[in-house]
Amino acid sequence: MSNSANPIQSSWLEFDKESGFTLENIPFGIFKTANKDARAATRIGDKVIDLSVLADFGYFDEIEMFDTNSLHQNTLNNFIALGKTCTSKVRFRIADLFSVHNSELKLNQKVLEFSIHDIEEVEMLMPISVGDYTDFYSSIEHATNVGIMFRDPANALFPNWKHLPVGYHGRSSSIVVSGTPIHRPYGQTKLESVVSPEYGPSRSMDFELEMAFVTGKKTNLGDQISVDDAKDHIFGLLIFNDLSARDIQKWEYVPLGPFLGKNFGSVISPWIVTLDALKPFWVDGPKQEPEVLPYLKTGRNGNLNIDLEVYLQAENEAPFMMAHSNMKYLYWNMAQQLAHHTVNGCNVNVGDLYASGTISGPTPDSYGSMLELCWKGTKPIKLPNGTERRFIEDNDTIIMKAYAKNEHYCISFGEVTTKILPAKI
Ligand code: CA
Repeated sequence: MSNSANPIQSSWLEFDKESGFTLENIPFGIFKTANKDARAATRIGDKVIDLSVLADFGYFDEIEMFDTNSLHQNTLNNFIALGKTCTSKVRFRIADLFSVHNSELKLNQKVLEFSIHDIEEVEMLMPISVGDYTDFYSSIEHATNVGIMFRDPANALFPNWKHLPVGYHGRSSSIVVSGTPIHRPYGQTKLESVVSPEYGPSRSMDFELEMAFVTGKKTNLGDQISVDDAKDHIFGLLIFNDLSARDIQKWEYVPLGPFLGKNFGSVISPWIVTLDALKPFWVDGPKQEPEVLPYLKTGRNGNLNIDLEVYLQAENEAPFMMAHSNMKYLYWNMAQQLAHHTVNGCNVNVGDLYASGTISGPTPDSYGSMLELCWKGTKPIKLPNGTERRFIEDNDTIIMKAYAKNEHYCISFGEVTTKILPAKI
């Protein structure tokens, strides 16, 4: 789909234009092949392009102040740290090299052979080394649903909720890339019907449909990032499945918040889609009432219109869509999250990760967790094979997809796939 006002860029490389990995996207990731170690890549259609090879053959030589060693490393942290002035040029240069109007690369068979791989033939790795990880709680629908189920329907939201983006510091060691299976965790839980807690595998494994952003600039202790500067500090976004053991969470979380119910595995998509690529997809967020404090006030177009889908795939079955939500529903936007995070002078680093919190929409088919979809287990979901789910069963696979789409083109984030294995003996 294209029109003259905003045509999709044509490429000499043949690929599926519906894939969402067009020349308008050009995300960044880290991959390895059977005979060569980790290095940086982009993706066009189902092709993974080795950026370290393009650098070796001098295709980025004209970009000033570009240390191409950053493309030879096993994380994107040093590349991102070069700053957007540089990384945006690299992104445009890549799109230009594959443009139908440019034959520099097209005619160099040797480089093409070394640099272009089918996605099935490579292994995608963690794109960044995550220093710190913060999980927000920014969906009013999700916070309200959870408040109704676990607290008090009449006072579902805590009094602070509409005045600041609530969050907690999570754990980065257990953040892994799509495809990594996660064992059902053990822990301490307490059934409502009994007095004492017990120990065993979680009975309430859940996903949380989230998006996360990556900061691209280091700040110093004492520095604040204003809402107006926030976009400049955000390099890009990826999909985030914040796996949660609801029974462990419910028993442990008072008074300090999530701990072992959340830190046994969170899974991210391998491609970081840049904020540059998402420019056409900014939209207004929900009206914030009561009015927020001045340091949290943002103008129009603070939210991103990104469609989100979650599927549950039972073993040997086809994936079944559980929910369809959108990032635009978030009550608190990314600029507000980052401004609030640093208002006390908390410093941030390149490669830190900030998850949105479960993104639920207004309708029951747009809820971003099984806790809400099955309403604490009271409304099981029937799968096409006749079995029911209240929470995730062993050997179920959760698949999350995200894409931004307008009348001209689609920007895909790819997917996050996570198989839940039985508790480890
Ligand atoms: Ca979460």
